[in-house]
Amino acid sequence: MITEKSVILQAGNKYIIHMKTYLKRTASAIVMAICSITAFCSCDNAGNDSGKARYIFVFIGDGMGAGHAAVTESYLSYQAGKLGGEELCFTQFPVLGTCTTYSADHHITCSSASGTAIACGEKTLNGYLGVNPDGERLKSIAYDLKEEGYNIGIMSSVPVNHATPASFYGHNTDREDYYNISMEIPESGFDLFGGSGFLQYSGKDGDKTPTPEVLESKGYNVCFGAEEFRQEMDSSEHIVFIQPSGKAENAGNYEVEKPDEEDSRLAEMLQMGIDFLGDDEPFFIMCEGGEIDWAAHDNMTMPMIDAVLRFNEAVETAYHFYLEHPSETLIIVTADHETGGITLGSNGTSTIYWDELVKAYEGGAVPATREEKRNLNDKVCIGWTTDNHTGAPVPLYAIGKGAEKFAGRMDNTDIKGKILN
Ligand SMILES: [Zn+2]
Repeated sequence: MITEKSVILQAGNKYIIHMKTYLKRTASAIVMAICSITAFCSCDNAGNDSGKARYIFVFIGDGMGAGHAAVTESYLSYQAGKLGGEELCFTQFPVLGTCTTYSADHHITCSSASGTAIACGEKTLNGYLGVNPDGERLKSIAYDLKEEGYNIGIMSSVPVNHATPASFYGHNTDREDYYNISMEIPESGFDLFGGSGFLQYSGKDGDKTPTPEVLESKGYNVCFGAEEFRQEMDSSEHIVFIQPSGKAENAGNYEVEKPDEEDSRLAEMLQMGIDFLGDDEPFFIMCEGGEIDWAAHDNMTMPMIDAVLRFNEAVETAYHFYLEHPSETLIIVTADHETGGITLGSNGTSTIYWDELVKAYEGGAVPATREEKRNLNDKVCIGWTTDNHTGAPVPLYAIGKGAEKFAGRMDNTDIKGKILN
């Protein structure tokens, strides 16, 4: 459960980080200018003949449309005593595109069909994962890049076998066949996995060998928490990070409902992943902020904002890496679909009543029923049109090597080809 204090603390931190970003960005502009000059002099040292970025980050804010970013930035501005103008890290990226997200059988996609579209470059049916509408296996970009010598990391703030991360390694006509999806982790040969835990930890009926045991038997070191991960990463070839709270069947809980002090934030998880993979060899990291979608399904405005801020922190981590390797790094931030149909403003008004919204979540209070949530959102003038996904196109933000290919309109199935070519 999120408290006002934690939200304010977080926003305070974000503001400091934001100021740092601003300073970094100034440095970055200079670095980029130097890079353009060196590139012009044919001194591109990317170390990759294909012209592809050596370090690739794909961030997926599950359910995060333009509205979620706008509401979060309005909240940050409110915290800073302004009407607007505060910015997230990724909304400042120089390249902006927009992606359509429909699936092979619906106007409105689910996370496995859109995850598959992003990862594999093909549309499939809602509920399908890493397979085409005929159930035939598709090849995700992670497999393509693995073959090209990239190290692969797949990370999420929600379970490792949930739809979005699973789209990059799994193949199943049922996205909820979680146990069997987990069994594909060692088959993938990917180097790093991270998430809150495993759904169907011991199988659908709880009678199978616990997932970590299976993974350990196949050469994947499963570490519960940052301390264990840091201790064991140097001696591990393949590693799986699981939150301390993910030791059992409760991995389905999401942070805003059940925070665990011991759990690492997504940014920390990503930093561990970057440290594990290192920069000696090229890498591809997919990093998902999964609880943005869950909070948006619930139309819970403050938890949604908290989830976007956590996701933004993770992007900051990658951005810091980019500043150290500007000519070799590509960062893409997008969403698999929009959730909730959120708008900054509703009911014909021109004001958001942030004081009231923040107060409503004070002391860990959360609106419990659908009606309470609707009344609160109505009162403060945050619009939500549905408790499901919508077909609104999602923004794509990009920076770094090859980022310019992502400008303008595209479909989610175009992303894979743009990264690879
Ligand atoms: Zn969803």
